[in-house]
Amino acid sequence: SAPLLDIRGLSVSFATRRGPFRAVDGVDLSVAPNELLAIVGESGSGKSVAMLAIMGLLPWTATVTAERMVFDGQDLRALSPRQRRGLFRPPWSLRAQPPEGVQAVSGRPRNGLIGKDVAMVFQEPMSSLNPCFTVGWQIGEALAQHTPLGRRERQTRVIELLEQVGIPDPARRARAFPHQLSGGMCQRVMIAMALACKPRLLIADEPTTALDVTIQAQIMDLLQTLRRDTGMALVLITHDLGVVAEAADRVMVQYAGRVVETQPAATLFTHPHHPYTHALLAALPERATGARLEAIDGVVPGQSDRPAGCLFAPRCRWANAHCHAVKPLPADAALGRALCHTPLDDAGQPLALNLENAA
Ligand code: SF4
Ligand code: MG
Repeated sequence: SAPLLDIRGLSVSFATRRGPFRAVDGVDLSVAPNELLAIVGESGSGKSVAMLAIMGLLPWTATVTAERMVFDGQDLRALSPRQRRGLFRPPWSLRAQPPEGVQAVSGRPRNGLIGKDVAMVFQEPMSSLNPCFTVGWQIGEALAQHTPLGRRERQTRVIELLEQVGIPDPARRARAFPHQLSGGMCQRVMIAMALACKPRLLIADEPTTALDVTIQAQIMDLLQTLRRDTGMALVLITHDLGVVAEAADRVMVQYAGRVVETQPAATLFTHPHHPYTHALLAALPERATGARLEAIDGVVPGQSDRPAGCLFAPRCRWANAHCHAVKPLPADAALGRALCHTPLDDAGQPLALNLENAA
């Protein structure tokens, strides 16, 4: 079927004192209706920035370009940032502060474009909620923005939504303030707010990262149940490949602003082609013991330490002189299904004979 969200060649650069910094570089991305796409990578990979760019939520220091940016047949590039934000529900209660680095959205969206199509939840549910209002009131506000429901109907709907996200004794919890609820409960409230507008796409940015392991699993289960029941598509951003192992349909691996590999989850975990994916998998804690097998040394390069060749070369165990000098191109990715000069075969060994080594 036609993709719900279809992005080609998305780039984002930020104006900084040391010149422009390319945080996202030529990202292609598509999400089908009801699909769960996971975007995986360490922090600094540009995962959140890419999604915020699509939603028009980046501050003015960001320059966003794309060859194609279509949601449900509508060209997002033709909309002003204000109109585009109207399509999306801001990922925080309107009376709360937006997360750091995210453009504040003031006032209520008004017209017919509005809406209800894409919603987003973040890592820190506590800071996305306003401490001064009850959670029921905040969900009610989201309903007031996005639905024609009257006051009474909204009250009923708030309770239904809290019930839908698995909050026990919803009538009582609706009257609670955020600090009276646990982190997991607050995340459920944020998800309820996101569902208030019946989104067709929910973007969840590290939704479980701040929570402990048992609660993480419960939130993942909840998201899966909601996806099944509502038919919405889900983009799940995470640094933890383990979180998406069972849940995702497709996994996109991002490194230093570039997509290095996209595969169906079923094959990515057994046959990773990019050395970075391979390293992420090798670093997953062993299920039985919880012990990490092999940590990946180093960090994602920033503005000042961008390698000349492959961006992963300083950390790649298969890097050679060619890798250090020449960037792999997306065309290579099409051939080898990974952004790499020598993608790995099913046994985890480099596929192509490297010319530099052969010489
Ligand atoms: Fe490693 Fe070279 Fe592939 Fe980059 S191009 S990931 S350095 S093997
Ligand atoms: Mg992030």
